[in-house]
Amino acid sequence: MRRVSIFGATGSIGQNTVDLIARDPSAYEVVALTGGHNVTQLAADARRLRAQVAVTAYPETLQPLRAALQGSDVEAVAGPQALLEAAARPADWVMSAIVGAAGLEPGLVALEQGATLALANKETLVCAGALVLETARRHDAHLLPVDSEHSAIFQALVGEDISAVERIILTASGGAFRDWPLERLAQATPAQASQHPNWAMGQRITIDSASMFNKALELIETREYFGVSPDQIEVLVHPESLVHSLVGFNDGALMAHVGAPDMRHAIGYALHWPDRRNLPVERLDLARVAQLSFRAPEEARYPALSLARQVMERGGLAGAVFNAAKEIALDAFIAGQIGFLDMSSVVEEALDWADACPGLIDAAMTLDNVRKTDHLARQHAWDLMAKRAG
Ligand code: NDP
Repeated sequence: MRRVSIFGATGSIGQNTVDLIARDPSAYEVVALTGGHNVTQLAADARRLRAQVAVTAYPETLQPLRAALQGSDVEAVAGPQALLEAAARPADWVMSAIVGAAGLEPGLVALEQGATLALANKETLVCAGALVLETARRHDAHLLPVDSEHSAIFQALVGEDISAVERIILTASGGAFRDWPLERLAQATPAQASQHPNWAMGQRITIDSASMFNKALELIETREYFGVSPDQIEVLVHPESLVHSLVGFNDGALMAHVGAPDMRHAIGYALHWPDRRNLPVERLDLARVAQLSFRAPEEARYPALSLARQVMERGGLAGAVFNAAKEIALDAFIAGQIGFLDMSSVVEEALDWADACPGLIDAAMTLDNVRKTDHLARQHAWDLMAKRAG
């Protein structure tokens, strides 16, 4: 039996992972399931999958978690330290699907145990790419992409030599506002930004799709994961979300990964890798689809893309600054404190500030430095917004 853990089990990726595991319970021994506020879901899944331990990230939700698990054999624990301890329990395969920079440390701990880490959490590679790759290498652990774009690229590269790759094309749905007049964007509300045209995902990544901060994170992840140079990575708006990304080779061939927008494909691929198994996803009828369309992204609509390119040029800990400022700006947008377009201005100003801080983004990529940079960038982003409001 394979020992598996799911970090962020109560979220959108986590629930899709639970769905796949629950379809074949005799094949898996579930070690840890983790969640945050949704302890009802966490407890229900921990009982159903007979997990060893259920972890809520927040100590204040320990009591309700314990109550919901009463009479079961599942241990209930809470808090960031308990999360890291659960990540240290031996497992063969771990899903990293916590949202935000909070997903970094549990993922690193799982890699240190030699577990295969299925990486949905984008922030892990954006904040600490070199550190994460080095940790995986040192512990002989596999790191498998779960983002549909990176899974598509990974699959297109099977049996290929990376030196034959000319370019990687990340497709993007364009998000909720892809067809809005540019002058309306400043008034866009969180509720409007939370309506994804094709994918059902968590609220944060859905808003990040509307602003393309999501694609910006993916650009940085692509560079880190596949080791290609920034000018080899392109973004293409593809409203149907059926082509999940493409790899262009030096003989002119383009290999595309095509499938229904269902994250259980990428999750299942990572779960069964290097094999392919039957997955409960729709089989595309291309005659019915009939048409696929593509267009270049407009720079003015998606300033996050050029910010990501700046981050890739700067390197070092610039990704940690970018992500921290983006998370704070997103919190403020969701809370109605800043407008939709202010998110990219806050991130841009934070990157300029970091550039002007001697030794900040050039510091060695250790976990301590990533934490410190993350903390300082969050503080600075708050200060920026307070200054604007005042
Ligand atoms: P959700 O918001 O749906 O779920 C996030 C999960 O993380 C929940 O289990 C949540 O718990 C938990 N969580 C939230 N904050 C913390 C914290 N501080 N500490 C520990 N756990 C926490 O997110 P998604 O599933 O949409 O996305 C997860 C990650 O995967 C993100 O990095 C996202 O960018 C990436 N991703 C998502 C895709 C998708 O299709 N959704 C596609 C590709 C990548 P609770 O809900 O109980 O509070």
